[in-house]
Amino acid sequence: FIIPDFRGFCHHLDQIYNSCKNNTNGKVASYIPQLARLKSEHWAVSVCTVDGQRYSNGDVNVPFTLQSCSKPLTYAMALGLNGTDTMHSYVGMEPSGRYFNELCLDYNNKPHNPMINAGAIMTAALVKPNLSAADRFDFIFNMYKRLAGDEFLGFNNAVFLSEKECADRNFALAYFMRENKCFPEGTRLHETLDFYFQLCSMEITAESGAVMAATLANGGINPLTGDPVLTIDAVRNTLTLMHSCGMYNYSGQFAFKVGLPSKSGVSGCVLLVIPNTMGICLWSPPLDTNGNSCRGVQFCMELVSRFNFHNFDNL
Ligand code: GLU
Repeated sequence: FIIPDFRGFCHHLDQIYNSCKNNTNGKVASYIPQLARLKSEHWAVSVCTVDGQRYSNGDVNVPFTLQSCSKPLTYAMALGLNGTDTMHSYVGMEPSGRYFNELCLDYNNKPHNPMINAGAIMTAALVKPNLSAADRFDFIFNMYKRLAGDEFLGFNNAVFLSEKECADRNFALAYFMRENKCFPEGTRLHETLDFYFQLCSMEITAESGAVMAATLANGGINPLTGDPVLTIDAVRNTLTLMHSCGMYNYSGQFAFKVGLPSKSGVSGCVLLVIPNTMGICLWSPPLDTNGNSCRGVQFCMELVSRFNFHNFDNL
């Protein structure tokens, strides 16, 4: 689906951008100093359509870490490597109804889904487990880069070190899963955790993030490069779980009110996908009590109040 009057559409985006800019609610994440230092004023909106049209407003070239927005991306890649059945013999597909980092498993003793920490640590364990740590990093970096069509992708080593330093809960989750024999045989626990922290510490800008989201909107084919990065099945599964589990404990309400697959992260990032139409990356560090970017959520609400993008609009 192509936006008929893209300039008119951009005019609406400007208005929504400005309206969200006035929102001064929320608090920047403070569990590590590197995130606590983020400025509350940052606000970026970037759009990339499936036919390659671009819109950007605000701090769209300032790098920030992906944090939990890496979860759907890694899951999509792991699906391509392992297939749906193998993946989901290790991780479920049900919203947990619990906190994203809660120490719990589902009734089958599996992590509930790949969008919460336990499931994302499991997903990391399922990406090229036979490669060395360095080659795994190279592999995933290259895949993320393809998703972004060679636009900005970085790695923030200070965030990585800090995550690793403050990771008692993630260590607890990994040990709890090992105790319950969740991991494939031969999984190296500490290496898997390091890999998970590295994924959280990958850096994008709103501009490159919009291209990543647009690749998900375009059936896994990067709309700018034509590169078939993800399989059709991987995209379908990923968008489904973003829709049901992408916005922490606000996921059900977000699905009701906005009706679009999305994933947010503690850096204030939101990846929003309008399937077959466009990818959007929003970034503003102050978070609401659910851990979602305040301006990001407001933007999504205002967008669907002006346009019929909700999944169940106009049936
Ligand atoms: N690095 C964070 C963690 O693993 C990610 C938090 C998030 O973005 O939800 O706890």
